Amino acid sequence: MPVLNQMNAMHAAMMDWRHDFHAHPELSLKEMRTSRKVQQLLNSFGVDEVHYGLAGTGVVGVIRGSRPGPAIGLRADMDALPISEATALPYASRNAGVMHACGHDGHTTMLLGAAAYLAGTRDFAGTVYTIFQPAEEDRDGADIMVREGLFEKFPMERIFGLHNWPSHPAGHFFWRNGPIMAAAAHIDITITGKGAHAAHPHQGIDPVLASAHVITALHSLVSRSIDPVDGGVVSVCGIEAGHAYNVIPDAVHLKGSARWFTDEVEKILREGVERVSSQVAGAFGATAEVAFQQTCIATINERGPTALTRTAAEAVVGEAAVHYLEKPSMGAEDFSSMLRQKSGSYIILGAGGEPQVPQLHNPRYDFNDEILPIGAAYWATLAEQVLANQICIRAL
Ligand SMILES: [Zn+2]
Ligand SMILES: [Zn+2]
Repeated sequence: MPVLNQMNAMHAAMMDWRHDFHAHPELSLKEMRTSRKVQQLLNSFGVDEVHYGLAGTGVVGVIRGSRPGPAIGLRADMDALPISEATALPYASRNAGVMHACGHDGHTTMLLGAAAYLAGTRDFAGTVYTIFQPAEEDRDGADIMVREGLFEKFPMERIFGLHNWPSHPAGHFFWRNGPIMAAAAHIDITITGKGAHAAHPHQGIDPVLASAHVITALHSLVSRSIDPVDGGVVSVCGIEAGHAYNVIPDAVHLKGSARWFTDEVEKILREGVERVSSQVAGAFGATAEVAFQQTCIATINERGPTALTRTAAEAVVGEAAVHYLEKPSMGAEDFSSMLRQKSGSYIILGAGGEPQVPQLHNPRYDFNDEILPIGAAYWATLAEQVLANQICIRAL
C-alpha cells in the first residue's frame, strides 16, 4: 500500500495529537509537556531508543532499519510564540498569551506520523534519527542541540528540514538549491540627547527628532549601499521614548531586524547601521549606541540532498505538485545551524494558497490538518528512498 494511504489511515490520530499540542503551546526552551508527549508517543510506536535532554527539552527518536546502512536525520520544531490566539477553535490555546502560530504543532505531528510508520515497517538500510527540536522561534535551539553534541551522539550523513507555508497551495512542495531562508540580526539603537521642557526645546537636545532622521537614513542602506540584485532588509519595528505631552525625553530606544544572504551584505548592514545611527544622531548633538546581534545564519540547501527531497516529494504528491521555488524568503530559520555542520536540505510544504488564509505568526493562523498525512508520507518516503541502499547515498 502506498505510504500516503497508510498515513491517511493515521489521519484521525495525527489530528488528535496536533490539536493536543495546539491547545498546550509552550515557549522556546520551555517545551516540557510537548517534549514529554513526543517521548511517550515515540515509545508507544516501539522506536529503538528515545533520547531526551539536548537543548533542555530536545528529543531524538532512533529507528533502525531492517538492513545495515548509514544514518540520516529528520528534524521538526516544537515551540510556540508569545501571541494571544484569536481563532475561537475548540482546541485553541489554553496557555494565555502563548500560541502555535507557526505550525510547529503540525511539524511535530507529521514527524511523529513518520516515526510511527518507520518503526512499524523498517523497510530501509540504516538508521533514521527523528529530531524534535526546541526553541526555533527564539534562542536558536538548533544551534544549542548542535553545540551540545547532536552530531557526535547521533552521527549522520544527511539532515533534512521542512516548514509549512500557508501562502502556498496546500499539499504542494517547493524546493530550492542554494539560499532558501535569510540570515537575521536583532538591531538595538539607543539615541541619547538631553531632556527638556517641551516649550523650551533649545535648552535640550531632542533625541526624538534625531531618531526620526536616523530611521529615515537607515532605510537608505538597502537602497543605496547594497547591489540591487542582492537581497537585504532593514526594518525598524519598535520605538520607545517619552510618555508626557510636555517633556522632551533624554533618550529614545529603537529596535528592529536586518536580513541578508551573503557575508558581503552582512558587512555593509552591520557597519552601515552603526555608522548611520551614530553620525546622523551626531549631527543633532545626540549620541547613538548600537547593538547588531546576529540571531541566525542563512539557510543554504545543497544540490545533492535537495534532489533527494524533490524525488521523495514527487513520489508522494506527483510531479505536478512539486515546484522549484524561484525566490528565497527573507524569513529566517535556525535549521541553518544544522545545515552549517551537515549536508542536507530544507523544503517548503504549501499549507493554504487562498489570499484570506491567515499567515504564519498571525493570531488567527491554524496549521492545515489536510496536509498532516502528506508531510508524514514525505518524511517516511524520504527516509526509505535515501536509505534504500548504501551505495546510492555515498555516490551522491
Ligand atoms: Zn515562526
Ligand atoms: Zn516556524
